[in-house]
Amino acid sequence: MSTENPFENSRKQLAKCAAILGLDESVHEMLRHPMRELRVTLPVRMDDGTIKVFEGFRIQYNDARGPTKGGIRFHPEENIDTVRALAAWMTWKCAVVDIPLGGGKGGVICNPKEMSDGELERLSRKYIASISQIIGPRKDVPAPDVYTNPKIMAWMVDEFSKISTFNQPGVVTGKPLTMGGSLGRGDATARGGLYTVREAAKVLGIELKDAKIAIQGYGNAGYYAAKLAKEMFGCKIVAMSDSRGGIMNMDGIDPEAANQHKVKTGSVAGLANTTPISNEAILELNVDVLIPAALENVITEKNAHKVNAKIVAELANGPTTPAADEILFQKGVHVIPDFLCNAGGVTVSYFEMVQNFYMYYWSEIRVHTRLDRKMTEAYKAVYAASQKYNIDMRTAAYVVAIERVVVAMKDRGWI
Ligand code: GLU
Repeated sequence: MSTENPFENSRKQLAKCAAILGLDESVHEMLRHPMRELRVTLPVRMDDGTIKVFEGFRIQYNDARGPTKGGIRFHPEENIDTVRALAAWMTWKCAVVDIPLGGGKGGVICNPKEMSDGELERLSRKYIASISQIIGPRKDVPAPDVYTNPKIMAWMVDEFSKISTFNQPGVVTGKPLTMGGSLGRGDATARGGLYTVREAAKVLGIELKDAKIAIQGYGNAGYYAAKLAKEMFGCKIVAMSDSRGGIMNMDGIDPEAANQHKVKTGSVAGLANTTPISNEAILELNVDVLIPAALENVITEKNAHKVNAKIVAELANGPTTPAADEILFQKGVHVIPDFLCNAGGVTVSYFEMVQNFYMYYWSEIRVHTRLDRKMTEAYKAVYAASQKYNIDMRTAAYVVAIERVVVAMKDRGWI
């Protein structure tokens, strides 16, 4: 992974958009900074009886369009600048799919792979209690992200409800169904991304049946992307990887078999009838669609010229650096930028919030139909902006999102 600072990268992307829109300097300056940041110290009793002190963050970037929203990452290399960038991207993400929410993000520096269930539970409860003053169903609503999941969300809801002295299912989304989760949330990020891939394929005249797909990252987003691309469009998944290694088979890999193998061994690596491939090489394969679905800064100026895909669908947040963006644009690679491509997760989180407020729950088909509509409209708006200004898709997504955020800031009388 490159050491580029993701927050500086997000600011570079913003600056490009500010120039195109002719944004007022003071407005640009406001958008360059998070509205509120909280840093917390988290002492947690470990299984061996010692106390380990963790560090966590919650950042609320901009709430002009509504309460802030965004996931929580548990990662050993987490740092405040990454959380700032992710909080900014959440702001643009909610705006690009036009849901009435602002952007926020949380992170805890820890390695969940080395922690027991009990330790993880105590850390999750401590974290949510420590940020409880600034979150709430109408203030700021966390959700799962890298290495956090519905089980962790359940502990967090339980802890927050205890503090509130009443049941508060709406304080986080991505919950288990038993306690106010939404049908369709589990695979929403991947499904939403695939709706945008479908739209991109139409624009580019690519047939998705038997199209070759490579996926970097086989967590929630990557696994469902593989499974659904095969089910929905009949694509062929020719390569996939996770943090421990990758596998390839140009005749196609069964996503379910890869998942089973990962559950059993901790990695997709070593699945029968596949050859090993590195996390770097997977980005350079000759495929129709490349899906980075892991972490930020994996496509950089060092390898962007080797990307051979027709479409890069960014299910990860921040996988492409600004310098790499230029190269991909020159090469004619169609990038579906992260905060458009992976907005399906937060869109269904928004549906979950709506259902929590109403206490009335939707069918799965209703979730899928409404998600499809949101993602398709967002893709079309971004594509239209890219054509209008003759700019790359990421800058176009910024143009659509920032215009909406700025209008809300004006309506509120902030500017
Ligand atoms: N963590 C996801 C994201 O980056 C989902 C956020 C949410 O549902 O609030 O978009």
